[in-house]
Formats: sequence, structure tokens, C-alpha cells
Amino acid sequence: ITGVSKTFTSGGSSKLVLEDATFHVKEGEFVSLIGPSGSGKSTLFHLIGGLEKPGSGEIRIGGRLIAPMERGLIAYMPQNASLLPWLSVARNIEMALEIAGIDRKEARNMARKWLTRIGLERDADSYPHALSGGMQQRVSFLRALLSPQPLMCLDEPFGSLDALTRQHMQTWLLSLWEEDRRSVLFITHSIEEALLLSDRILVLSTAPAKVIREIEVPFPRPRGEQLWSDPVFNE
Ligand code: ATP
Ligand code: MG
Repeated sequence: ITGVSKTFTSGGSSKLVLEDATFHVKEGEFVSLIGPSGSGKSTLFHLIGGLEKPGSGEIRIGGRLIAPMERGLIAYMPQNASLLPWLSVARNIEMALEIAGIDRKEARNMARKWLTRIGLERDADSYPHALSGGMQQRVSFLRALLSPQPLMCLDEPFGSLDALTRQHMQTWLLSLWEEDRRSVLFITHSIEEALLLSDRILVLSTAPAKVIREIEVPFPRPRGEQLWSDPVFNE
């Protein structure tokens, strides 16, 4: 991300949300973004994901300059689960996999297998409105995890989960990340969570967001032993 700025204009007034935002995520690195509410974190993901156009600046993924509004280059979990309401839970996941180039039959098998692992096999054919907020969040998380793009952007993925489910999801994310070592950008309001999961934490200012502090998390990270004990969520 180099010199990225973004201004929103509505009702005659304009708001500078990002100003000259610059940072870099190394290949395979897990980076958390922490910053006040309204500082522009989700906006940054919208720009990386091609949902909004940057006012200025450059975004590159794997060295390649991405065009404004170019989509499908990241595995993305938006802040609000945003499952497509007219598709079943399983189809929501399959669609994301198909868009990423996985063939229909394999996408179907993967969706079923992982919904079972996450304890939602009985909800595979339900529609999103029939699931609780936390269940929808898990499906949305799964959709991002299974999408094969080498950069994963997760926007407060565990925000509305109960403490136990959150710990399971953190464990799950970490154990999968240890396997495939994708680059991760992770937005959270929990400093503990950022310390637990990330290699590096970027602290953003209030809008217009800038990186005001960078924290390298010392290794070995303060990851709890219990976090590793049960990577499969199927209670
Ligand atoms: P939170 O931690 O609460 O999720 P955030 O850091 O993700 O906050 P953003 O959602 O990026 O914050 O919003 C940053 C600012 O940009 C807010 O003031 C918001 O009102 C404004 N904003 C975001 N999207 C739009 C839009 N489409 N049109 C106008 N203003 C917007
Ligand atoms: Mg946000």
C-alpha cells in the first residue's frame, strides 16, 4: 500500500478517511491492524478488495499493481458477514470457490467437508437468515479461509462470537495459517487477539488513518498452549 488516500463525498460535505497510507505486508506474514472506530480500516479493505476506488496511491499484491475496482484478488471476509441471502449456506461457500477458479464438483465437496468440521453440517442447506449472527460469521470466515488467494483480509472476524467459539476460531485460523503461510491482514479491536495471532501490529490514527506505530510481536509469541490442543471445531 503506497500513498493511498480516500475521500468520501456525500451531501455536499467531504471526508478525508485515508491520507497517504503506506505499509507493506511480507509474503507469509500475519499483520494486525488496530485503530479507533471510524479510522478507515474497513475502507482500506474495500480498496484492496476492489469495492471502492482509491483517490490516489498504489496498491500492489505480489508485486502486481491492481487496477481500481479490480475484484477477486483477495480472500476477503467483510466486517458484516454479508452472506448472499438468496443462496444456501453451502452455495455461499461454493460460489466463492468457483469465482476463485475451483471447479464446481470440488467446490461442493470442500464446502460440505468444512461445514462439517466447523459444526454446521446440518445448516448447509439453510438460508443465511435462518442462522444466528455468530453462525453467519463462522460461515463467512470459512468462505474466506477456503478461498485460495494468497492474501487474506479479515475484518473483525470474531467480533460477535462467544468467548469459547472465538478461541476455537483463533485456533483454527492459526493452525491453517501454519500450514499454508498465506499473508494475512487482520482487523481487530482486541489487543490480546492481535498479540496472540500476529507477527506485526500496525496501529492506525483516527481518520485520516495513518500508521502511527508498528509493533513487532516477539517470538515465541504469547500463544496459549490450550490454543493448539483442538484445531477441529465439532462439538
Ligand atoms: P470500525 O472500527 O468502527 O469498523 P473503521 O475503521 O472500519 O471503523 P470505516 O468503516 O473504514 O472505519 O469508516 C471510516 C470513515 O469513512 C467513517 O467516518 C465512515 O463514515 C466513512 N465512510 C466509510 N464508507 C463510506 C461511504 N461509502 N460513504 C461515505 N462515508 C463512508
Ligand atoms: Mg470497520
